[in-house]
Amino acid sequence: MTDQLPSPTPATTLETEPFWEAAADGRFVLPRCNACDEVIWYPRLFCPSCGSNDVSWFEASGNGTVYSFTVVERGQGGWREHSPYVLAYIELAEGPRMLTNVIDVDPDTVAIDMPVTVRFDAGKDGGNIVRFGPAS
Ligand SMILES: [Zn+2]
Repeated sequence: MTDQLPSPTPATTLETEPFWEAAADGRFVLPRCNACDEVIWYPRLFCPSCGSNDVSWFEASGNGTVYSFTVVERGQGGWREHSPYVLAYIELAEGPRMLTNVIDVDPDTVAIDMPVTVRFDAGKDGGNIVRFGPAS
């Protein structure tokens, strides 16, 4: 549980580049539709709610709660030695749900609705991986 989970540096696309660039600086940003205020996840160049392409990024709170999770007892490949670990959907304070890991926690203590905050794990070849840990 104290070991860092595998953290391959993410490949970016035109749609995800602002997210990963901010994460590399230790900032958590989300895209939002300027036409209808929908906060969008995963990153897209248009709003899935109203279809507008007037989308811009903003600094999000980094706060959320555990919406759903599983404890992976026997991970595959490079994840095996880090098992057990927590794979979770985090419901962000801004609305969307993000699939990620909950870290810095005993997996047996993770619970639905547990408050969490964003964590940045150093990527293997630069940048940061975005994960969540218990809110203090
Ligand atoms: Zn919209």
